[in-house]
Amino acid sequence: MTNETTRTYDVIVIGAGPVGENVAERARAAGLSTVIIERELIGGECSFWACDPSKALLRPVVARADASRVPGLDPAVAGPLDVDAVLAHRDKMSSYWKDEDQVDWLNSAGVDLIRGHGRLTGPKKVAVQTAEGDTINLTARHAVAVSTGTRAALPPIPGYDTVRPWTSREATTATKAPGRLAIVGGGVVAVEMATAWQALGSQVTMLVLENGLLERMEPFAGDLVTEGLREAGVDIRFNTTATFMTREDGEVRITLSDGSELAADEILLATGRAPQTRDVGLQSVGLTPGDWLTVDDTFQVTGVDGGWLYAVGDVNRRALMTHQGKYQARIAGAVIGARANNEPVDTAPWGAHVATADHSAVPQVVFTTPEVASVGLTSREIEHSGRRIKVVDYDLAQIAGAHQYGEDYRGHARMLIDTDQGTVAGITFAGPGVGELVHSATIAVSGEVPLNRLWHAVPAFPTLGEIWLRLLETHRG
Ligand SMILES: Cc1cc2nc3c(=O)[nH]c(=O)nc-3n(C[C@H](O)[C@H](O)[C@H](O)COP(=O)(O)OP(=O)(O)OC[C@H]3O[C@@H](n4cnc5c(N)ncnc54)[C@H](O)[C@@H]3O)c2cc1C
Repeated sequence: MTNETTRTYDVIVIGAGPVGENVAERARAAGLSTVIIERELIGGECSFWACDPSKALLRPVVARADASRVPGLDPAVAGPLDVDAVLAHRDKMSSYWKDEDQVDWLNSAGVDLIRGHGRLTGPKKVAVQTAEGDTINLTARHAVAVSTGTRAALPPIPGYDTVRPWTSREATTATKAPGRLAIVGGGVVAVEMATAWQALGSQVTMLVLENGLLERMEPFAGDLVTEGLREAGVDIRFNTTATFMTREDGEVRITLSDGSELAADEILLATGRAPQTRDVGLQSVGLTPGDWLTVDDTFQVTGVDGGWLYAVGDVNRRALMTHQGKYQARIAGAVIGARANNEPVDTAPWGAHVATADHSAVPQVVFTTPEVASVGLTSREIEHSGRRIKVVDYDLAQIAGAHQYGEDYRGHARMLIDTDQGTVAGITFAGPGVGELVHSATIAVSGEVPLNRLWHAVPAFPTLGEIWLRLLETHRG
């Protein structure tokens, strides 16, 4: 027999990924009774199938590449990686796909948890279907936040659904390296997984529709990552895609756009993300299932009356990264709290209740060899930015910190200067070790620190941070 129950909360959050968890925690901190609904693991994609497992696979690869440039240390890292140890570390960093710790965290925050599939059934109404077949009908006094994230978007290549392709989930959780791995795509997931699996023993072939990697970043970043992957043995084929695939005798046979054929043991489709909104009951509030949820800067969904529906994290498509989604969550939780408690809402740019950084200061690190780190505007976006921008380039290999970092250091940095404001609009670094530089850049961009003041921010010698001084000197001529 199945049961039907009814409960009322101030706030209902659908989806307990990193973002939903933080919306719930912030709403609770604002004194609101809050429930969160999750159909899989508390912690979402990031903890179990994305950030954590992928970075655990990549850390030994990046560390070995760095160590191999240090005289005296290089022989110690010359051999192959201990694949079993790397995979065991990956399992540990993914909490063995168990979520007790995150459940404890929700409990300590005072957030109620319901395991099951949540669907909107009308304004401020959500029904949860549990695994046992019970239905829990929830009503929100103030707000419902949808934080259901994304899934891999699979391209309609004929035959793809018959070959059991890898998505990012299989690529981050596989228990052995396939002999031959084909990867369709040239974005962040594609380059990171190519880096990891090539180092773990696969022969990786990348099929890239475009004429370069990381097409949304500065072109030099894609070029340096291409160089690094090719040196590691990855076969990268640009202006190429798969037009047909079939699995026969255990192997995937792929027909390429130039008519040639490629055989692989597994194929990873790393071709973007799609919102998980097909089955969240959007139709019950006048929205279209399967669409991204468009929001204003306080995360209220546009096109829904009453201002009670919020969409936070990947599902709103503003910035598909955990750190930025959690930033959104802090803002959304605070604004839901302020509105519910009839407190003032500060919507001025950079105010407490708007996610201004989403528009101009989103940091990202790509964990390849070399790494890429960027924040803010890129030269590809200058034309549409409506801002007067000066581009300043510098060869990272020329700084003393890079000489100390490793021999034959190769890298590049680009700073975009808003000449009207006299501030940094964007910056991209590509080179070994640059991931840890990104927060300095985020502070400069989000803080709109005047260049004249940055001139007084002295980088320690000899560190990679010296790149700041060199870029400023180049700008000043
Ligand atoms: C391979 C890979 C590597 C990545 N690496 C990084 C990285 O290093 N750093 C970084 O910042 N970002 C990284 N990302 C991006 C990051 O994973 C996402 O930005 C982040 O997970 C988004 O969080 P979210 O809470 O919005 O969504 P998700 O993490 O997708 O969580 C959504 C949750 O909602 C649940 N859900 C969905 N529908 C329902 C429903 N109807 N009812 C109940 N529950 C539901 C899902 O089960 C899931 O748990 C990576 C992504 C990939 C694919």
